[in-house]
Amino acid sequence: LGLPHPAIPLPVDLYGAARRNSTGLDLANEAQLRELAHELAEAAQRPPLQPRQRVPDASATEIAAALQRAADHASAWAAVPASERAQRLEATADRLQRDMPALMALLIHEAGKTAANAVGEVREAVDFLRYYAAQVREQFHNATHRPLGPVVCISPWNFPLAIFMGQVAAALAAGNVVLAKPAEQTPLVAQAAVQALWDAGVPREAMQLLPGDGATVGAPLVADPRVMGVLFTGSTEVARLLQRALVGRVDALGRPVPLIAETGGQNAMIVDASALAEQVVADAIASAFDSAGQRCSALRVLCVQDDVADRVTGMLLGAMAELRVGDPARLATDLGPVIDAEAHAGIQRHIDAMRARGHRVHQAWHGAGEALPPGHFVPPTLIEIAHLGELGREVFGPVLHLLRYRRDELDALLAQINATGYGLTLGLHTRIDETVARVLAAARVGNVYVNRNMVGAVVGVQPFGGEGLSGTGPKAGGPLYLYRLLSQRPADGAQRAIA
Ligand code: NAD
Repeated sequence: LGLPHPAIPLPVDLYGAARRNSTGLDLANEAQLRELAHELAEAAQRPPLQPRQRVPDASATEIAAALQRAADHASAWAAVPASERAQRLEATADRLQRDMPALMALLIHEAGKTAANAVGEVREAVDFLRYYAAQVREQFHNATHRPLGPVVCISPWNFPLAIFMGQVAAALAAGNVVLAKPAEQTPLVAQAAVQALWDAGVPREAMQLLPGDGATVGAPLVADPRVMGVLFTGSTEVARLLQRALVGRVDALGRPVPLIAETGGQNAMIVDASALAEQVVADAIASAFDSAGQRCSALRVLCVQDDVADRVTGMLLGAMAELRVGDPARLATDLGPVIDAEAHAGIQRHIDAMRARGHRVHQAWHGAGEALPPGHFVPPTLIEIAHLGELGREVFGPVLHLLRYRRDELDALLAQINATGYGLTLGLHTRIDETVARVLAAARVGNVYVNRNMVGAVVGVQPFGGEGLSGTGPKAGGPLYLYRLLSQRPADGAQRAIA
């Protein structure tokens, strides 16, 4: 990231982060905290990473060999009893918990995560491993389950551990062999994840890692006829390419090769005059600027009823001015850098274009009078718009848009939101029951958050995934996910037995 790293104090803030998380992992453990502080301090001493120099891209020969190895090994992994596959995933989860400090340091260093986000990410990866292992133990004692075969998992850089691990854990749990193509920006985190799986007894032939670019590594993997399924998380644009590449592809029995795609959003939060303004501002700040806005679920458009819009906007700008932008390894930091120069340029182009079209642009952060530190930083930004149609595709950074609507325009606003075609998350702040019912009835989105922030979903409790341009389903971390990764489901087996 090219950042200067000062010495790091004992991360007491992590107590808060640990309490908020779901797994019951004990980070309020002094020995673990000390180790964490040590790892973070060590990470701070290391020179900036140059991932592309450290992890070579998979060559065409390596890709061909990996595909053959996967095809040759598919039946051996499928034959491992489901309970044993589950046990190896659980052992991987134990390993990630033990290695939490080192993984956090890597996430901070390679992906620019803040320490609090890094804790959450390791724990989400642990949750995915344990959840899919539990699902397999519960559901897969029936011999009629058959996996798809070799599957390709393609993941983004914004959750380089949790999403990577969520995909491969599900695929492996269901008995598939995996060819994983991590985001080109975060190959080291992927390598650490795969090493943990191998060390826990997942065979190297069942779990292969192929780092490199989408076009040179991802595309040839998806195009290979031996691949029987694709799990993708990333942009809607790339999901479209993959969908096209799979048109007409079928398995030996003529069934279509499935694509599970989880993609972007144009996520709105609707705020009416009955809402508690302080809560709205706290939740909007967390939803739009946590992870520097680099979450698929992040709030992009805050829609505020005009009677309260001036007050909410004033409070929001005040809260933005409290946010500290800078080195993610420092515990005081709220917003780290965006992932790379290209992302930075793209976000900046959007801000400039909106300003040029006459939209009011507000930027505020702690110490705004001084220059931002060197690195790919974008300060918290608020842009006023009059209609959702003024926005094009998702802007993946700390940029929030503000739209005012009249009390009698709620239905039109919901229609605008649906007309974006995306359908990932929607926030609602109101204290009127009838409004909740109206919004829930009209919304075409995967996850709705009422009177709270839109940050996160708990694996196994709130399955996560979108509709329309935001994804194909089934929701990740939910009970239906594993079934899409099978070629023969119990019902098929039952029918066969009856026939
Ligand atoms: P991206 O689409 O650019 O890349 C995602 C992955 O696809 C990377 O590994 C990339 O190398 C690969 N890829 C690119 N072109 C390819 C091709 N032609 N063939 C095969 N693979 C190819 O997305 P990104 O910038 O890494 O991630 C950010 C995006 O991910 C945002 O749009 C965000 O909303 C989305 N996202 C969605 C979810 C969700 O759960 N819905 C979660 C996280 C991120």
